[in-house]
Amino acid sequence: MSDFSQEQVEKRAAIQKSASIIGVIVALIVGLVAYWILGSQNSGIRIGGSAVVALVAGFLVHRASFNSGAKSAKCANCGAAFSRSRTDRTEVLDSSSREEESETQEDGSTKVTTWIEEVYDVTETYTCSTCQDETTKTYKSNRRTGEEEKVIPAPKPAAAKGGQKTSGGDAEDAAPSGKKRSRSSRR
Ligand SMILES: [Zn+2]
Repeated sequence: MSDFSQEQVEKRAAIQKSASIIGVIVALIVGLVAYWILGSQNSGIRIGGSAVVALVAGFLVHRASFNSGAKSAKCANCGAAFSRSRTDRTEVLDSSSREEESETQEDGSTKVTTWIEEVYDVTETYTCSTCQDETTKTYKSNRRTGEEEKVIPAPKPAAAKGGQKTSGGDAEDAAPSGKKRSRSSRR
Protein backbone atom coordinates (compact mmCIF):
# COMPACT_ATOMS: atom_id res chain seq x y z
CA MET A 1 0.00 0.00 0.00
CA SER A 2 2.99 2.31 0.44
CA ASP A 3 4.02 2.35 -3.21
CA PHE A 4 1.40 4.82 -4.32
CA SER A 5 2.22 7.10 -7.21
CA GLN A 6 2.11 10.86 -6.78
CA GLU A 7 -1.34 10.96 -8.43
CA GLN A 8 -2.72 8.34 -6.06
CA VAL A 9 -1.37 10.18 -3.01
CA GLU A 10 -2.95 13.42 -4.23
CA LYS A 11 -6.22 11.72 -5.05
CA ARG A 12 -6.37 10.16 -1.60
CA ALA A 13 -5.63 13.52 0.02
CA ALA A 14 -8.41 15.19 -1.96
CA ILE A 15 -10.96 12.54 -0.95
CA GLN A 16 -9.74 12.80 2.64
CA LYS A 17 -10.11 16.55 2.59
CA SER A 18 -13.69 16.66 1.30
CA ALA A 19 -14.68 13.87 3.71
CA SER A 20 -13.20 15.94 6.57
CA ILE A 21 -15.12 19.05 5.55
CA ILE A 22 -18.42 17.15 5.40
CA GLY A 23 -17.61 15.42 8.72
CA VAL A 24 -16.89 18.71 10.49
CA ILE A 25 -20.06 20.35 9.16
CA VAL A 26 -22.21 17.40 10.26
CA ALA A 27 -20.48 17.30 13.67
CA LEU A 28 -21.20 21.00 14.22
CA ILE A 29 -24.86 20.69 13.29
CA VAL A 30 -25.41 17.52 15.33
CA GLY A 31 -23.51 19.01 18.27
CA LEU A 32 -25.67 22.14 18.28
CA VAL A 33 -28.89 20.11 18.06
CA ALA A 34 -27.73 17.82 20.90
CA TYR A 35 -26.76 20.87 22.99
CA TRP A 36 -30.24 22.28 22.46
CA ILE A 37 -31.99 18.97 23.25
CA LEU A 38 -29.96 18.60 26.46
CA GLY A 39 -31.09 22.06 27.59
CA SER A 40 -32.52 20.83 30.88
CA GLN A 41 -29.32 19.07 31.96
CA ASN A 42 -26.50 20.66 33.94
CA SER A 43 -23.80 22.26 31.86
CA GLY A 44 -21.26 19.44 32.33
CA ILE A 45 -23.58 16.80 30.89
CA ARG A 46 -24.79 19.24 28.26
CA ILE A 47 -21.33 20.07 26.90
CA GLY A 48 -19.91 16.57 27.36
CA GLY A 49 -22.95 14.84 25.88
CA SER A 50 -23.19 17.03 22.82
CA ALA A 51 -19.42 16.77 22.23
CA VAL A 52 -19.59 12.97 22.26
CA VAL A 53 -22.61 12.88 19.94
CA ALA A 54 -20.94 15.39 17.58
CA LEU A 55 -17.70 13.40 17.45
CA VAL A 56 -19.49 10.12 16.74
CA ALA A 57 -21.67 11.66 14.03
CA GLY A 58 -18.71 13.46 12.45
CA PHE A 59 -16.63 10.30 12.48
CA LEU A 60 -19.36 8.16 10.88
CA VAL A 61 -20.07 10.71 8.16
CA HIS A 62 -16.37 11.19 7.47
CA ARG A 63 -15.86 7.44 7.15
CA ALA A 64 -18.90 6.98 4.88
CA SER A 65 -17.83 9.87 2.66
CA PHE A 66 -14.24 8.67 2.47
CA ASN A 67 -15.31 5.10 1.64
CA SER A 68 -17.65 6.29 -1.07
CA GLY A 69 -14.96 8.53 -2.57
CA ALA A 70 -12.40 5.73 -2.41
CA LYS A 71 -14.85 3.31 -4.03
CA SER A 72 -15.49 5.57 -7.01
CA ALA A 73 -11.76 6.30 -7.38
CA LYS A 74 -10.86 2.63 -7.57
CA CYS A 75 -10.10 1.47 -11.08
CA ALA A 76 -12.35 -1.37 -12.25
CA ASN A 77 -9.79 -2.39 -14.86
CA CYS A 78 -6.55 -2.79 -12.91
CA GLY A 79 -7.88 -2.59 -9.36
CA ALA A 80 -5.57 0.25 -8.31
CA ALA A 81 -6.89 2.40 -5.49
CA PHE A 82 -7.22 6.20 -5.72
CA SER A 83 -6.51 6.15 -9.45
CA ARG A 84 -9.67 7.10 -11.22
CA SER A 85 -10.30 10.79 -11.79
CA ARG A 86 -12.45 12.82 -14.11
CA THR A 87 -10.27 14.04 -16.96
CA ASP A 88 -12.79 15.46 -19.40
CA ARG A 89 -16.31 16.79 -19.52
CA THR A 90 -18.18 17.80 -22.66
CA GLU A 91 -21.65 19.19 -23.15
CA VAL A 92 -23.60 19.05 -26.39
CA LEU A 93 -26.92 20.82 -26.75
CA ASP A 94 -29.56 18.19 -27.47
CA SER A 95 -32.73 20.26 -27.60
CA SER A 96 -34.10 23.59 -26.54
CA SER A 97 -37.68 24.65 -26.19
CA ARG A 98 -39.62 27.64 -25.00
CA GLU A 99 -41.55 27.06 -21.83
CA GLU A 100 -44.20 29.12 -20.12
CA GLU A 101 -45.85 28.90 -16.76
CA SER A 102 -48.57 31.12 -15.39
CA GLU A 103 -49.59 31.41 -11.82
CA THR A 104 -52.56 33.31 -10.45
CA GLN A 105 -51.66 35.67 -7.64
CA GLU A 106 -53.77 36.45 -4.59
CA ASP A 107 -54.78 39.86 -5.95
CA GLY A 108 -56.16 38.33 -9.17
CA SER A 109 -53.20 39.23 -11.38
CA THR A 110 -51.31 36.56 -13.25
CA LYS A 111 -47.59 36.03 -13.02
CA VAL A 112 -46.23 34.63 -16.28
CA THR A 113 -42.77 33.12 -16.33
CA THR A 114 -41.11 32.25 -19.61
CA TRP A 115 -37.77 30.62 -20.18
CA ILE A 116 -35.77 28.52 -22.58
CA GLU A 117 -35.35 24.97 -21.41
CA GLU A 118 -32.12 23.50 -22.74
CA VAL A 119 -31.26 19.84 -22.52
CA TYR A 120 -27.59 18.91 -22.77
CA ASP A 121 -25.97 15.56 -23.35
CA VAL A 122 -23.09 15.50 -20.89
CA THR A 123 -20.20 13.11 -21.33
CA GLU A 124 -17.70 12.68 -18.55
CA THR A 125 -14.45 10.83 -19.07
CA TYR A 126 -12.63 9.16 -16.21
CA THR A 127 -9.05 8.03 -16.59
CA CYS A 128 -7.05 5.68 -14.42
CA SER A 129 -3.65 7.16 -13.56
CA THR A 130 -2.15 3.69 -13.20
CA CYS A 131 -3.26 1.78 -16.32
CA GLN A 132 -4.62 4.74 -18.37
CA ASP A 133 -7.94 2.93 -18.84
CA GLU A 134 -10.70 5.32 -19.86
CA THR A 135 -14.34 5.04 -18.94
CA THR A 136 -17.12 7.42 -19.87
CA LYS A 137 -20.40 8.27 -18.29
CA THR A 138 -23.20 10.06 -20.14
CA TYR A 139 -26.28 11.71 -18.77
CA LYS A 140 -28.70 14.49 -19.58
CA SER A 141 -28.61 17.84 -17.86
CA ASN A 142 -31.40 20.43 -17.96
CA ARG A 143 -30.81 24.14 -17.73
CA ARG A 144 -33.05 27.19 -17.75
CA THR A 145 -31.87 30.31 -19.49
CA GLY A 146 -33.34 33.70 -20.26
CA GLU A 147 -35.91 33.48 -17.53
CA GLU A 148 -38.36 36.40 -17.61
CA GLU A 149 -41.20 37.25 -15.34
CA LYS A 150 -44.08 39.57 -15.99
CA VAL A 151 -47.24 40.30 -14.11
CA ILE A 152 -50.47 40.73 -15.99
CA PRO A 153 -52.87 42.83 -13.96
CA ALA A 154 -56.22 41.44 -12.91
CA PRO A 155 -59.13 42.20 -15.27
CA LYS A 156 -61.09 45.24 -14.15
CA PRO A 157 -64.72 44.34 -13.31
CA ALA A 158 -65.97 47.40 -15.26
CA ALA A 159 -64.02 46.48 -18.38
CA ALA A 160 -66.29 43.58 -19.25
CA LYS A 161 -67.91 45.00 -22.36
CA GLY A 162 -70.32 42.40 -23.58
CA GLY A 163 -67.60 39.82 -23.60
CA GLN A 164 -67.71 36.64 -21.67
CA LYS A 165 -66.81 37.47 -18.15
CA THR A 166 -64.62 34.86 -16.70
CA SER A 167 -63.72 34.34 -13.13
CA GLY A 168 -61.00 32.32 -11.51
CA GLY A 169 -58.03 34.43 -12.43
CA ASP A 170 -58.03 34.14 -16.21
CA ALA A 171 -56.42 37.40 -17.20
CA GLU A 172 -56.60 36.86 -20.95
CA ASP A 173 -59.00 39.80 -21.50
CA ALA A 174 -56.76 42.22 -19.69
CA ALA A 175 -53.60 41.16 -21.43
CA PRO A 176 -51.91 43.68 -23.70
CA SER A 177 -52.72 43.10 -27.37
CA GLY A 178 -49.14 42.24 -28.17
CA LYS A 179 -49.09 39.37 -25.79
CA LYS A 180 -48.51 36.05 -27.37
CA ARG A 181 -49.44 32.83 -25.75
CA SER A 182 -47.35 29.96 -26.77
CA ARG A 183 -46.54 26.67 -25.29
CA SER A 184 -44.12 24.31 -26.82
CA SER A 185 -43.69 20.84 -25.53
CA ARG A 186 -40.45 19.55 -24.22
CA ARG A 187 -38.40 18.27 -27.15
ZN1 LIG B 1 -6.43 1.15 -13.83
